[in-house]
Amino acid sequence: MASNLTGTVALVTGASSGIGAATARRLAEHGAAAALVARRRDRLADLAAEIEKAGGTALAVEADITDRAQAEAAVQQTVDRFGRLDTLVNNAGLMLLGPVLDADAEDWDRMIAVNVQGLLSTTRAALPHLLQAAEEGPRRVADIVNISSIAGRVAWSGYGVYNLTKFGVNGFTESLRQEVTRRHVRVGVLEPGGVATELGSHNDHKPEVREAINSFYEQTEVLAPEDIADGVAYMVTRPRHASVGELWIMPTDQA
Ligand code: NDP
Repeated sequence: MASNLTGTVALVTGASSGIGAATARRLAEHGAAAALVARRRDRLADLAAEIEKAGGTALAVEADITDRAQAEAAVQQTVDRFGRLDTLVNNAGLMLLGPVLDADAEDWDRMIAVNVQGLLSTTRAALPHLLQAAEEGPRRVADIVNISSIAGRVAWSGYGVYNLTKFGVNGFTESLRQEVTRRHVRVGVLEPGGVATELGSHNDHKPEVREAINSFYEQTEVLAPEDIADGVAYMVTRPRHASVGELWIMPTDQA
């Protein structure tokens, strides 16, 4: 594996499973020191050990990014340990589906807290370090990749608030891109279609939603988390003058 991120530091939120874990692995293979952020400490510790065993560098950082102080502390812990921050992958997310009518408003609060507020808090804390890396680092460029979704491009009945969060992430990403791109912090969204992860499992208490999700996964040859990790790696390893603002990766089998 080419080591074109050697000497850089990447922070990945939601690194305890699915897309985040695969992305952290992939960036570490490319030579980045990886800060692994999520709530499940055991999973993070296992992944950090795996990355280190493979010759990489990793730091497990237990944090609930819905708490702004914890998101800020996660960024600070990363910079304290590695001295810099070049890449932020805002990946942590929740998808709680169902109709708006009679919805559990707590589901909405939880999704907005992780998908929107968590992403904002982490970005706000990371941005000064990314700007500094772009100014002073050997590559003279830094990156934010926000993991949005096809649900940030297309709305469906039953996805209302998940759609809201991901459309919001897309709008915020493009606004921030315009704000900092001339300072060589590249900001882009990656929008996956269906990926085999734990994402749907948080709907287990809603049989109708669970059934719809199961039926989609049974009938569709979905993506692997590594397919999305490859996309992130592509975005953050472009030459300094090339910024990928949007990458939409779908299963070939998903219309
Ligand atoms: P997973 O459920 O496997 O991963 C979600 C991650 O988010 C976990 O690591 C979880 O860690 C973390 N997380 C959740 N809440 C918090 C929190 N409060 N603080 C810190 N971390 C948190 O699902 P995916 O890998 O699929 O999801 C990753 C991203 O990809 C999400 O943004 C999702 O919306 C997006 N996506 C996924 C698709 C799919 O089909 N799977 C399709 C399109 C987009 P922990 O519980 O340990 O805190």
